[in-house]
Amino acid sequence: MYYDKVEGLDRKELEALQAERLRKVIERASCSPYYKEQFKAAGVDSSSIKTVDDIRRLPFTTKDDLRANYPYGLLAKPLDEFVRLHASSGTTGTPTAVFYTQSDLDKWADLMARSMHTCGVRKTDVLQNMSGYGLFTGGLGIHYGSERLGCLTVPAGAGNTSRQIKLIKDFNVSVMHIIPSFALYFAQKVQDEGYDPKDMPWRIALIGAEPHTEDTRKRVEELLCIKAYNSYGLSEMNGPGVAFECTEQNGMHVWEDSYVAEIIDPNTGEHVKEGEIGELVMTTLTREGMPIIRYRTRDLTRFIPGDCPCGRTHRRIDRITGRADDMLIIKGVNIYPMQIEKILMAMPEVGQNYLIELFCEGYMDQIRVKVEVKDEFFVEDMRALQGLQKRIASKLRDEILVTPRVELVMHNSIPKSEGKAKRVVDLRESED
Ligand code: AMP
Ligand code: ZN
Repeated sequence: MYYDKVEGLDRKELEALQAERLRKVIERASCSPYYKEQFKAAGVDSSSIKTVDDIRRLPFTTKDDLRANYPYGLLAKPLDEFVRLHASSGTTGTPTAVFYTQSDLDKWADLMARSMHTCGVRKTDVLQNMSGYGLFTGGLGIHYGSERLGCLTVPAGAGNTSRQIKLIKDFNVSVMHIIPSFALYFAQKVQDEGYDPKDMPWRIALIGAEPHTEDTRKRVEELLCIKAYNSYGLSEMNGPGVAFECTEQNGMHVWEDSYVAEIIDPNTGEHVKEGEIGELVMTTLTREGMPIIRYRTRDLTRFIPGDCPCGRTHRRIDRITGRADDMLIIKGVNIYPMQIEKILMAMPEVGQNYLIELFCEGYMDQIRVKVEVKDEFFVEDMRALQGLQKRIASKLRDEILVTPRVELVMHNSIPKSEGKAKRVVDLRESED
């Protein structure tokens, strides 16, 4: 039933395995210049770990630490043992690079295969990988996992919807890996080009790599007549395959034999109470070349309390509600883009894309939300459109406590990026 029997391991045994692997990873990490110094300064070594809970004694690692030690400071093996690198998709500042030995790549492919198996992908499936290949881990990560599982793998890459559809039809593609914002756009295109999704061979979509709401998932499912499963990962922890939804579609199992997941209060660094939202902190347990200890992901989520009916014992995290650094402060109010998406995607009139713009009026920061409207609602009746505009603004106000300007635009008129969607454009600096 499971891809790997470790998925159903008794919690006590799982935690004992974690403690043992944590001790080993500390020893391996101590071979890197960065952790050697960090552990010395904190007065910790592998003997500090009796149970996995002792992880709290270890120092955190932040994105800035990775940047400050770019590119080789965290490598625990000689450079000639590495066979691949990837880089984080961050658009600002020094990038961060992650290096893999062959054994790291093998373990990652296994985790990816396990993840896909968890939501029902089997070796008889044909998988089309519709995310960009290259430095982004979503391309090669899914690719090698799919091959490891034994699926016929179509490395289509991002963009070019018409070609994607042709490949899907020609090769009977049953599983698609697709970024959620692109999935919405793709679904619209499928409709625009006159295809009936029910006639298409697909049955499963793996969607992830960027925040999205439950309503976005439902839209993808309804528009494409497909089951969509959430996939979470980050380059610093290999890439995709860190946490994945099972067929229950109620939270993502974190693969705890390979990672330790903690959820902390971002201000105090202390663990939050079970079930409370906080910042996800992740530790690699099995990586050899570049172990990373207590990495502050800045992603906000919570552990879902209780057992999963699927029987897997690995804890589940909830959908990522946002990133600590995604937070916008407008008129003194904290706003996360996902709050806006939540309102928009629940409205039937709203199309598949939106954009949040921040601008300055006088000395005041203002927020404008451009919203694509479905064709059938984009009528010539001015009053109907104004009514819709007002309704969106008031629903958003109830959620974010600030009244945004709402601009209605035609479907497909907001430019679509090939990779992760850029939801917020800050026009404030350029207007100074
Ligand atoms: P990168 O390492 O550049 O691929 O970016 C990793 C980041 O993408 C994570 O830290 C999250 O902020 C985001 N991310 C990845 N998967 C998901 C997901 N399923 N839901 C929400 N955000 C995600
Ligand atoms: Zn489950």
